[in-house]
Amino acid sequence: MAHAIHDFTAKLRQPSLAPHVDAYVRWRRAVRSARERGEPVPSAPDLAPISINLDLTTACNYACTHCIDWDILNTRHKYKEAELRDSLTLMAERGLRSVILIGGGEPTLYPRFASFVSFLKELGLQVSIVSNGSRCDRLAEAVVHMDERDWIRLSLDSGSNELFVKMHKPADKKLDLDSICEGVGEIKRANPRVLVGFSYIIVWSGASRDDHEILENIHEIVQATERAKRYGFDYISLKPILERETNGAEVMDPEKTRSETATVVQRIRHEVDRAQELADESFQVYESNNLRVLEQGNWHEFTHQPRTCHMQALRQVLTPTGLYNCPAHRGVEKARLGSPTAYRDGQEAAATNASLTQILDGFDASHECRNVTCIYNSVNWWLEKLIEDPREDVRVEIGEERADFFL
Ligand code: SF4
Repeated sequence: MAHAIHDFTAKLRQPSLAPHVDAYVRWRRAVRSARERGEPVPSAPDLAPISINLDLTTACNYACTHCIDWDILNTRHKYKEAELRDSLTLMAERGLRSVILIGGGEPTLYPRFASFVSFLKELGLQVSIVSNGSRCDRLAEAVVHMDERDWIRLSLDSGSNELFVKMHKPADKKLDLDSICEGVGEIKRANPRVLVGFSYIIVWSGASRDDHEILENIHEIVQATERAKRYGFDYISLKPILERETNGAEVMDPEKTRSETATVVQRIRHEVDRAQELADESFQVYESNNLRVLEQGNWHEFTHQPRTCHMQALRQVLTPTGLYNCPAHRGVEKARLGSPTAYRDGQEAAATNASLTQILDGFDASHECRNVTCIYNSVNWWLEKLIEDPREDVRVEIGEERADFFL
């Protein structure tokens, strides 16, 4: 089954988010008509993004062969926590609704991890955590602060201990897939209301990172699914590996293995179908959009972006090296919206909004993201059409409330 969490247009049409989206759309329409009349453009509204990816640390205790954040790991950049808390407080006042702790490093290695999760929850934010699973004890401490709208996902990508160790190269030699999966029980006992997922990036021979060959895992999809179910995960999510271009954008490049792609896709489908047989009412098997795109061979459709990426205003990436416009361009200079303290106070937030105004015009997504199979492609085109609509009274049409604010 496909994952409803990727229907971003439906999320933005929720009654609780639509006014925020409407304010953005009205501003962009005002910018457009001011330009048509040759007048100065209005400033951006005092809004924060609705959702951020927050990289708490660049530290990581693995050396994964398929890591897309390889260049920024263990770079020793750090936040000052008081400033980070000030930034998040201001953002929450200005419309931030969710935080995904992910990427750039392993979030649970942040020294005050559980207390930081508690702080985010006190701000009324939805919180999700993507972790390598090496510190389930810290996840169990954090999960008590979370609720049924939040989730945790462990990036495990293998079914056997042997392949797990070869792919992830944990610094702790005693760590293996069995010990991580046993930790999931601890998390669920601490708070059974929070969903815990097993993330499986499907890797095949021919995929590479910086031209280093990476390890194939198609043959362990079923084994991993059995394991996920046995250890009490709520779901497994299966997604093909993204490559990373030299400009930093994440891209899927089935062309690279063009001669074998059809065979690879068949092998993946065979294993995924077998994995699906294990799904039941308490355990789901999710297939990512990119997996369907890989199978249907229509990945080019998702690389045709509007010139302006509107999601830059609604979902950003805050890291110890700066604030970026998109997870696909994390760490890339021309995608940088500001410093790690970009929302620390009203003055910095105003400068960040000015930078956002510039980057909305200056960052040409139709070019910069031309090879990215962007999961925000359709929501971006929906926003573009609303902004370009010549009728006067265009508003965001209100949809149903899902209470899901992750973008
Ligand atoms: S078009 Fe997609 S990949 Fe490009 S910046 Fe926007 S969200 Fe990111």
